[in-house]
Amino acid sequence: MKSLEQLVRPNIGKLAPYSSARDEYSGKEAHVFLDANENPYNAPFNRYPDPLQRKLKQQISKLKGIPADMIFLGNGSDEAIDLPYRIFCQPGRDNVVAIEPTYGMYRVCADINDVAYRTVLLNENFDFQASDLLKTCDSHTKIIWICSPNNPTGNSLNRDEIIKVIENFDGIVIVDEAYIDFAQQQSLRTELATHPNLIILQTMSKAWGSAAIRLGMAFASQEIIAIYNKVKYPYNVNQLTQEQALKMLSDPYEVDKWVKILLQERVRLMQAFQELPICEHIYKTDANFFLAKMTDAQGVYDYLVDKGIIVRNRSRIQLCQNCLRITIGTKNENNELLSALRQF
Ligand SMILES: *Cc1c(COP(=O)(O)O)cnc(C)c1O
Repeated sequence: MKSLEQLVRPNIGKLAPYSSARDEYSGKEAHVFLDANENPYNAPFNRYPDPLQRKLKQQISKLKGIPADMIFLGNGSDEAIDLPYRIFCQPGRDNVVAIEPTYGMYRVCADINDVAYRTVLLNENFDFQASDLLKTCDSHTKIIWICSPNNPTGNSLNRDEIIKVIENFDGIVIVDEAYIDFAQQQSLRTELATHPNLIILQTMSKAWGSAAIRLGMAFASQEIIAIYNKVKYPYNVNQLTQEQALKMLSDPYEVDKWVKILLQERVRLMQAFQELPICEHIYKTDANFFLAKMTDAQGVYDYLVDKGIIVRNRSRIQLCQNCLRITIGTKNENNELLSALRQF
């Protein structure tokens, strides 16, 4: 790995971050706060939230077995995806490498930041070889994006190949594990201690059932997390979100129950799809959705929309011709989908 000084944009390396009233004072004894131009009325919403979300990070630290100073919390994974472009990539000069097809936000953020986005097509099993990603990199490649389980394909990528990429790339490797709670595959977070160029993304939006509160997580070395904290908006995770996330974290067994039910429903739904004459193939998945190759994806999509049932039409994505992406719903929702499809 190159040193962080070599990888970080020079202006970010030199950046003196905004210092808020809450940063400058943190202690327990004070009871009169006249330092932040807040309104003394309308408690508890009148006060700025903790800019570093310390309480919340303590709980996440316990749950994930990662020190709190190796955790960044953001306004969804979206923020954790955008920040590394702003931290590492010089607009108009640097580039990133990603697998294709994958989650669309990596490319959107590259385009917004004027960073070239290079892709390596997955093979027919939707998997990849480390050497293909590595040979696409040049001296201006700052980040490699890997999503596992991948979206929209659903499969986990080969773990040994991911580790080969991490060990042989001299820049930053970001592994997006948004669907890891549904996966048989183990999280790569155990690799953080030995791989200082690794960033892992997770989210409360999927297994945790909390897409509305917008809470994304990045796990990485203390040094990388310190730079994330310097560049982020000071109060990027609002008080309501911090409180609701703490409430969810106090009952992780509820999440385990949801995951178990969704995985059972996934088996049932996929078996039913296999028997549909309009379905040609269903692909292996490690997530709370699966990809189905249809005889006429657009026709089925339009037909379902007409019935008020929305699935994701991925048929114009490379390697996903005629494919629909089906998210696992409740038992009733899944039954409604199946009975509609049986009448197509
Ligand atoms: C859904 C999803 C996310 C979640 O994004 P949030 O901004 O945290 O809601 C992240 N990565 C992938 C690959 C996803 O599919």
